[in-house]
Amino acid sequence: MFQSARIKLTLWYLAIIMAISIFFSIAFYKVSTREIRRIIHRVEFFQEQEDNRLFPPPSRFFISRAPSLEALQATEKRLQIILIGINGVILLLAGGASYFLAGRTLRPIKLMIDEQNQFVSDASHELRTPLATMRAEMEGSLLEKKISDKRARELIKSNLEELTTLQNLTNNLLRLAEIPVNGKPLENVSLLGIIKTSTKKIAPLAKRKQIAVEIKVKDAVLPADKNSLIELFVILFDNAIKYSPKNSIIHVASEQTQRSVKISVSDQGVGISEKDLSHIFERFYRADKSRSEVGGYGLGLSIAKKIVETHKGTIAVKSKVKEGSVFTLEFPLSNS
Ligand code: ADP
Repeated sequence: MFQSARIKLTLWYLAIIMAISIFFSIAFYKVSTREIRRIIHRVEFFQEQEDNRLFPPPSRFFISRAPSLEALQATEKRLQIILIGINGVILLLAGGASYFLAGRTLRPIKLMIDEQNQFVSDASHELRTPLATMRAEMEGSLLEKKISDKRARELIKSNLEELTTLQNLTNNLLRLAEIPVNGKPLENVSLLGIIKTSTKKIAPLAKRKQIAVEIKVKDAVLPADKNSLIELFVILFDNAIKYSPKNSIIHVASEQTQRSVKISVSDQGVGISEKDLSHIFERFYRADKSRSEVGGYGLGLSIAKKIVETHKGTIAVKSKVKEGSVFTLEFPLSNS
């Protein structure tokens, strides 16, 4: 598909270049031949007069030095051949250049299509697992002659769990597709207010693992979409809790300059290995060790990254295995 699109685009480029080149060649040929014809007519006229002996010697001198009719006609022919040659060379060079340029023009589109295909394949793969589990359980129970109430309840419970997984996954997928690249209008919001609301949301999870969240943030006003920013901090806090041991502490701190504010979320968790660090913001990426231990689809951080980008901010991570991770966000301030 990419190759045929490239060839089509090449032909379009080539058609435009050749149309321009042929137009100018014809214009140049017309102007040049008009001049040659004018000289031919003048020579013919003088030759007639010369034959009638009407002209004094100076004109004879001019006629004797004027190019012959044959030479002028040959010049016209030569001009035609030169212009055809030049257009042939332009055709060859422009063909190569157009093919190269068409490839460059289409490359980002190709990358986008490859990424979309990968996304669809990853999403289908993730959706297939809970569906297959549900199907296997139901088929297995159908083979049982009699199902006790207890067994039926177990089955419904397990299917409900799989349905919750599917629901969460589809919600996350929809969320990823929804986040606008060039954001909706932003309002001025309080950074501290957002962090406090986010910590309230994850408080039950933190309590279950006896994890404390320490906030040392100086309030600042940010142009933001409030709910998206809350979602962003919930993702970071949720991960920090998921990947930290019991009784640990999550530190949230801020640092402000004239133009921007930096917020760091540090945990004392399992950390992220060097080889995983550069991939964790990719959709569906999960570090292997976390797959079996804690749930997740590898979509949280890609949603977080998209939210940060819609706020013209940046997100970075530093981590040491078995020591913990620090996620740092930076956002421009309202007055910058
Ligand atoms: P998941 O739903 O798997 O947590 P995310 O996109 O939120 O998906 O994170 C991607 C991967 O990055 C996780 O699977 C995990 O391996 C790693 N990760 C993210 N946050 C942390 C953290 N605070 N500590 C250790 N690993 C983390």
